[in-house]
Amino acid sequence: MKPERVFVGLGSNLGDAHASLQRARAALAALPQTQLLKVSPVYRSAPVDAAGPDFLNAVAELETSLSPPALLHALQAIEQAQGRERPYRHAPRTLDLDLLLWGQQVIETPELVVPHPRLAQRAFVLLPLLALAPGLVHPRLGPLAALQPAVAGQRIERLPDAANAIARPGR
Ligand code: AMP
Repeated sequence: MKPERVFVGLGSNLGDAHASLQRARAALAALPQTQLLKVSPVYRSAPVDAAGPDFLNAVAELETSLSPPALLHALQAIEQAQGRERPYRHAPRTLDLDLLLWGQQVIETPELVVPHPRLAQRAFVLLPLLALAPGLVHPRLGPLAALQPAVAGQRIERLPDAANAIARPGR
């Protein structure tokens, strides 16, 4: 397939969340037919529709020649490898990986909806996306920057750079 620019959301709120994100970064960097271009700073956010402690979130930018279902399955394999269990809906999770954007494509299949349907309502997705790519455009909703005021009430903080190891090259 023609290489495409893709954004993946990373979240964790169980165990050592920072270590989970770092392992996820390494796993994304090792994906076949894929280059990890950039990883956003890490944000700490209150759980939305989920149980347990605060989440750590980040977004990764990839260039991939995998097909959308192939990348989705690869992301699910990374989640499984990090011991994600689903005892009930919205349970706390060691690692959650979401396919957020696939270039300007709109994908709607039973197993995959891209852009991710809740992308526009979640500060923990929008803020790291905009930190990586301020000019990013949603194929249906337009410039992502314009969506930011709608999530301004959600509790989220960008971790200080010293705590931001996964955003640093070579780590
Ligand atoms: P979750 O429990 O939030 O990780 O949701 C996982 C389910 O969402 C899987 O069954 C996927 O097939 C489905 N899904 C639909 N669209 C997406 C997407 N854009 N990224 C990740 N999972 C998706």
